[in-house]
Amino acid sequence: MTDHTWLERAVALAVANVAAGGGPFGALVVRDGELVSEGINRVTPDLDPTAHAEVVAIRRACAALGDFSLEGCTLYSSCEPCPMCVSASLWSRLDAVVYAADRDDAARGGFDDRAIYDLLGADRATWPMTVAAVPLGERFAPFEAWLGNDARTPY
Ligand SMILES: [Zn+2]
Repeated sequence: MTDHTWLERAVALAVANVAAGGGPFGALVVRDGELVSEGINRVTPDLDPTAHAEVVAIRRACAALGDFSLEGCTLYSSCEPCPMCVSASLWSRLDAVVYAADRDDAARGGFDDRAIYDLLGADRATWPMTVAAVPLGERFAPFEAWLGNDARTPY
């Protein structure tokens, strides 16, 4: 299977998902040329704004492999991952992300991920949502607990 073939499969998943009531996105996780998981966009049926196809595929791959790391795996997505999914890909330590449609195609299709990419580069004072730090005295307590826990699992 080539990148092209895996992407065709991701795109076919995305198209089929529309007919099933979901969003037009599909993704796959592949390791050593073998399919590990599939993901489809489940935002509206699950009432879960984080249920993007890539996140669903990552969650299923981790469950299938019994590991929180997807080192050695590649994510194939029908569309360029949004900032949340790129972050999820980095956190899951995927080796690579390969996509078909880009952010401009997504915008043309009614999904303007580009606006979020732009927002992340802009001053937070211009955001439509407040993001503010409060300098709480106990703010480092969770990290003290973490660093003091010899049984912790680093990730
Ligand atoms: Zn996403």
